[in-house]
Amino acid sequence: MTLAYVGLGANLGDPRRTLAEAILELGHLVGCAVTRQSSLYRCAPLGTTAQADFINAVVGLETTLEAELLLDQLQAIENRHGRQRPFSGAPRTLDLDLLLYGDVQLSTPRLTVPHPRMHERAFVLQPLLELDPVISLPVKGLASVLLRACSGQKIARIE
Ligand code: AMP
Repeated sequence: MTLAYVGLGANLGDPRRTLAEAILELGHLVGCAVTRQSSLYRCAPLGTTAQADFINAVVGLETTLEAELLLDQLQAIENRHGRQRPFSGAPRTLDLDLLLYGDVQLSTPRLTVPHPRMHERAFVLQPLLELDPVISLPVKGLASVLLRACSGQKIARIE
């Protein structure tokens, strides 16, 4: 069993409903159990494209799936929710990122773990810290310290 963390985000359609459905689907994957689930967060989009705020969350998943097989399943869930990739940074009905896979570090043509941009994103670090306040990222260090460098990013927990 490996504890993996998956980041969820959406800003098209009905994001809250999509995230709730996606978390259920993650729990139904063979060899996976959702053991931790953060609050939802409303987050301003990063980058220059004008688009709606995102709803984000992070879940912890106990899994027996190899990392690339887990990525396959994440992409299948994204596709079931109508995910299209017309251009980089486009609005999305559902984005699922494999953030951490235990303390494994790997880089293949289709998968980099830890997720290469997670350490600079408040919408990942804040919900992750809700699940584990002392979590440390391989090489990058304590998530709580990394979050302090993201103070310019707008993020609000949804009650
Ligand atoms: P995006 O469109 O931003 O969701 O990026 C998806 C692409 O990133 C896919 O081609 C994945 O194969 C690749 N990718 C690399 N590392 C990861 C990761 N840790 N989690 C999710 N996708 C990843």
